[in-house]
Amino acid sequence: MPEIFKTQVITVDAAHPDAGAIEEAASIIRRGRLVAFPTETVYGLGANARDSMAVSTIFVAKQRPSSNPLIVHTSSTEEAQALAARWPPEAEALAAAFWPGPLSIVVPRSKKIPDIVSAGKPTVALRVPSNPVALALLRAARVPVAAPSANRSEKISPTTAEHVLHTLDGRIPAVLDGGPALGGIESTVIAITSDGPMILRPGLISPAEIEAVIGPVRRSDGTHSEEVSDLATPGIRLRHYAPQSPLILVNAANVQKRLAKLFSKLSTEANRGYITLSEETKVGYIGYRTLPDFEEGLLVQMLPDSPQGYAEQLYAALHTMDAAKVHRIVAEIPPDDDDWLAIRDRLGRASLYGFKDTHS
Ligand code: AMP
Ligand code: MG
Repeated sequence: MPEIFKTQVITVDAAHPDAGAIEEAASIIRRGRLVAFPTETVYGLGANARDSMAVSTIFVAKQRPSSNPLIVHTSSTEEAQALAARWPPEAEALAAAFWPGPLSIVVPRSKKIPDIVSAGKPTVALRVPSNPVALALLRAARVPVAAPSANRSEKISPTTAEHVLHTLDGRIPAVLDGGPALGGIESTVIAITSDGPMILRPGLISPAEIEAVIGPVRRSDGTHSEEVSDLATPGIRLRHYAPQSPLILVNAANVQKRLAKLFSKLSTEANRGYITLSEETKVGYIGYRTLPDFEEGLLVQMLPDSPQGYAEQLYAALHTMDAAKVHRIVAEIPPDDDDWLAIRDRLGRASLYGFKDTHS
């Protein structure tokens, strides 16, 4: 059992974080303890990356398997580079183009980073976040900060301080509440390997944006060469980001038929959740007028029709579904193109059957 804490909530202004509040959080990190903090992707759970004891408490608080490595956050490219044993030209170009921002770059690890951070791998994932609160915290802490998402392992990632408290209240010393994490889903993870760059996890930075900077990149499809499986991201193979109730993906074209079938199997008292992209489908089947809405046992979350807007709201929608204790969630499958790659990835791993849509 982890030490039981009363989790302290430290509130800061999102755009102009108060120096006193930031210093309070930074001093907790410097003392080898954990602080959850907002980034532009989701909330992270931070520890001093140079301190293996501190980092080990992240794995305990999250119940995260020690085989899943952490991303190390710094306040500048220079500090990140100092944690790499090698800093290839592609890493430099990507850092110049996307940092501060939602891209994590996997490069050979320097000895300054303890084994536990990288789950024993010879590499380390590095990122300079752009969220003003995250940057202020990193500057004040004056140490690199290892931070996975601030949720219990395999639960939905948090985009607000309240979401963090849902699964970590009493398990961590503090959360820095700087308002919602606006990106909404995790960073893109790219490895710079000796045979070229490879996207290990799709995220807020799209393959097209990356290719515009460094040319063609490979995408991890789960079938790895030996070198890459050494680099590969364990987190991407698991069912992950899952809500408590089963989530089933359906093609938008079949949605009316599928909803009728999937929901008809539930008892009449059971709450149902429906995540849709289109007003038209929703009105066609359900006939509700205002959203989000919870009437007669059906909770509808209509998410924006753009990948950015959808990403921003996806996890909050799943958290809402959990809070409403729905028994089943049906979500429409977003378009099959690169712009929706990261969203499809997260939905696929939140769902029971992935994209098959073959169940009846
Ligand atoms: P999380 O912080 O929970 O969003 O997960 C971070 C992601 O980055 C996980 O999927 C990790 O497996 C991945 N990651 C972190 N460090 C490395 C590394 N050295 N090599 C490959 N993947 C990594
Ligand atoms: Mg995570």
